[in-house]
Amino acid sequence: INKTWKLIDLLMKVYKFGGASVKDAQSIKNIAAIIERCKEDLVIVVSAMGKTTNSLETLANVYYGKGDWKPFFDKIVAFHRAVIAELFILEDDQELLVQYVMFEDDLFQELKKIPSLNFDYDYDRIVSFGELFSTTIIAAYLKKIGCQVGWTDSRGFIRTSNDFREGKIDWELSKRLISESIDFSQAKIFLAQGFIGSTTNNQTTTLGREGSDFSAAAIAYLMDGTDVTIWKDVAGVLNADPRWYSKAVLLPEMSYNEAIELSFYGAQVIHPKTLKPLENKNIPLYVRSFSDPDGKGTIIGFYSGKIKIPILIKKTEQILLSIAPLDFSFVVEDNLKEIFEIFSKYRIKVNQMQISALNFSVCASYDERKFENLLADLRSNYRVTYNLGLELLTIRHYNPEIIEEMVNGYKVLMEQKNRDTAWFVMKQNGIPEKKN
Ligand code: ADP
Ligand code: ASP
Ligand code: MG
Repeated sequence: INKTWKLIDLLMKVYKFGGASVKDAQSIKNIAAIIERCKEDLVIVVSAMGKTTNSLETLANVYYGKGDWKPFFDKIVAFHRAVIAELFILEDDQELLVQYVMFEDDLFQELKKIPSLNFDYDYDRIVSFGELFSTTIIAAYLKKIGCQVGWTDSRGFIRTSNDFREGKIDWELSKRLISESIDFSQAKIFLAQGFIGSTTNNQTTTLGREGSDFSAAAIAYLMDGTDVTIWKDVAGVLNADPRWYSKAVLLPEMSYNEAIELSFYGAQVIHPKTLKPLENKNIPLYVRSFSDPDGKGTIIGFYSGKIKIPILIKKTEQILLSIAPLDFSFVVEDNLKEIFEIFSKYRIKVNQMQISALNFSVCASYDERKFENLLADLRSNYRVTYNLGLELLTIRHYNPEIIEEMVNGYKVLMEQKNRDTAWFVMKQNGIPEKKN
């Protein structure tokens, strides 16, 4: 028996709770029930509560535009304080909440500074507070109910490049730092923020929207975790997003590659960067339901079976650009090089493309902030027309029946197929054409 316990002592798991799993006081109580099930050492990675990151983005925009940011700040604080009021008895629990209150003030101080010349830098120092708020509240609550948990600041060990809003992890450096921050001889459970990190100069960075899944995977990688579980508001990975496809079914098992493909094409259930670090160390990823913790969920690992049903992924807010040389010449490699350089300059993600003699078509995610400049750059050498408000549908393991079902009621503007995947850039019939 002693031997078994020794072994369990060395095992370490990572649980990740996203915005939906920490959206209110009730869901925070639910976390306590879920972590009770874990007997091994545990790192809990948490996102900002509910839609807090969106609210902080708005705050950052107003602040950067030198607008009146105070009402937006107040609203975010009021939301967190309402949750606190439900979880704590304020007179008795003040001490537990010291750190939360400190961060509230830190955010206020950040907002009083004059905006820098770099929006992305300011974005990170403001938007990162969502995770600092959620984790300090949750740590306080867990301590209140008698669970000994160590709160840790992920910026102390997730070292990134200074690509603000898209920090790239320095794996070597982070590996050296993490053992100082997360030391299981101090506590059996640690609570860390998803999404955030810092540069070597201690400037706060973020890893990209929805990046908490990636943080959880990074921590498991850095600490040689046995597995990662992401607790979700769905039963696991389904063959489509149940919000638009009511017939979606659970996929009990899939390979890392399958999961990479479907997250790359936009299945929101897992962040695309999550899987590579896990695959490198053969760490399985479980996707399970926080409202049904006994459910089996999905296991992602080295699975050699074939998925037999089609997987459907939709990306909205797509734009289809049709690009042709102004001098009516053919599209050749030199043009392609120049066109890609422009997309890369604005960091606009190209999702699909097609080439013909006179035209190069690109389907990309629409970003209002960058679009006018992109267009101006392209138009100096090319004739560019475009359609807005499109959907990109990806069907993995397609068959004629599912294609028929999916494109029914749509006008398909561009389509592409390889052996196991088909893509359709399309527009719902009846929606007015936005073309330029
Ligand atoms: P979290 O806040 O936990 O990161 P997200 O909202 O980012 O959660 O992701 C969960 C949501 O992903 C689900 O509510 C579901 O609507 C959506 N989703 C999209 N594609 C899938 C899929 N293939 N399987 C399951 N859920 C999916
Ligand atoms: N809070 C961040 C976001 O909403 C990160 C995450 O939730 O994964 O994008
Ligand atoms: Mg998410």
